[in-house]
Amino acid sequence: MRLAIRIAFVFAVTGLCSAQARPLPGPDVQQIYQRLLPQIEKIPAFDHHAHPGFADDPDVDAMAAPPNLSEALRTRDDNPELAVAAKALFGYPYSDLSPEHAKWLLDKKNELKKQLTGTAYFDSILDKINTESSVANRAMMPEYLNPKRFPWVFFADSFMWPFNNERETARNPDEGVYIPLQEKMLHRWMQQESVTKLPAAFADYLKFISQTLEDNSKRGGIAMKFEVAYFRPTTFGDPTRAQAEDIYQRYASGGIPTEREYRTFQDFIFRYLVLEGGRLHLPVHIHTAVGIGDYFNLSQSNIMNLESVLRDPRYASTTFVMIHGGYPLEREAIWLAAMKNVYLDSSFGELAQYPSAFKDTLKMWLETFPDKITFGTDCFPYNQVLGAEESYWLGVQSTRTALSAALAEMISEGEITEPRALELAHAYLHDTAVKLYGGRVH
Ligand SMILES: [Zn+2]
Repeated sequence: MRLAIRIAFVFAVTGLCSAQARPLPGPDVQQIYQRLLPQIEKIPAFDHHAHPGFADDPDVDAMAAPPNLSEALRTRDDNPELAVAAKALFGYPYSDLSPEHAKWLLDKKNELKKQLTGTAYFDSILDKINTESSVANRAMMPEYLNPKRFPWVFFADSFMWPFNNERETARNPDEGVYIPLQEKMLHRWMQQESVTKLPAAFADYLKFISQTLEDNSKRGGIAMKFEVAYFRPTTFGDPTRAQAEDIYQRYASGGIPTEREYRTFQDFIFRYLVLEGGRLHLPVHIHTAVGIGDYFNLSQSNIMNLESVLRDPRYASTTFVMIHGGYPLEREAIWLAAMKNVYLDSSFGELAQYPSAFKDTLKMWLETFPDKITFGTDCFPYNQVLGAEESYWLGVQSTRTALSAALAEMISEGEITEPRALELAHAYLHDTAVKLYGGRVH
């Protein structure tokens, strides 16, 4: 008995855990949480997935929200937490966002934008939320984002839609919005590379793709992003180059490929891009989660569809980041991170779920492959009033609280020590992601 007390005392003083984990947290869990949170708030974060920008900027994403979409509860405009975000960032004096009150916020932001010119406005937002740098996953970069703090992740999907897209666009109202924007994106890459029309030879089309990737990398791009799950199933076949070339030659100058032909061509291009990502040290980010729009097909975009690509030794030198961590299949998804070159990003999980549920996601990940998970917010300028600013704040705040709670439980349940918990927090919030880019970000 006395020995047990002494051991308990030693553990309490040194913060060492007992060797045997317990299934329930002890009564100390609240205290541990209160102790961890301020320390975790002090860790400067690297936001691995976000769409910063102003609401009237069309380049914030390579796609746009489809009309009349259903929003899950927490991501609706009337979420009262958004008023809390506005209060924390701008001193917003109201607790709701009624149109009369929202005007105060709009005026306040406009006033700040006048004072903080150039890149200072968005730099100041990062300062307020203690984010050192944030990925800007955008179609193109604007003048008002500081490239030192907002490294660019560009979109690579459009190379897969070079043919007549009549059938693709007519599939449903959501594709009616998305596919024309992919055509526009491809056109912009062609303009950038001074390519006036699709090359006649397939080899030249591949050369155009590679040149665009290389130039984007030179222009500050640190990774390529796919949101392909919005446009087609994420099950990728493995066609030969000759098959893709045959399809290209038949449709590059016109005509509508059959659905099967188009998919086969895309399967080849996707794998080509993945290989180029390895050669050019451009990690490959892939949207893996539910998506916006009522027609987003969950079963066809299941993260496990990608398993055959991720576990293919041919792609061992490509770094994959599973954006949104496969949510709501994050439990299966974490096992994909067994591959040395596969990482999971938690963005959107912290917005789709409330912190109490997101805490469980993080805990399960931290207990499985803690060195393979990275933080992101998926911030987005929803409208003039609720901007990227508020959504940054909500993402960061939700993550830091959920992370502190997950780690507090792990400590209290005897799984890890407090110093180890802080190491894991640093890795997840900053270090693990930064290491993927070989000194290009900090
Ligand atoms: Zn996103």
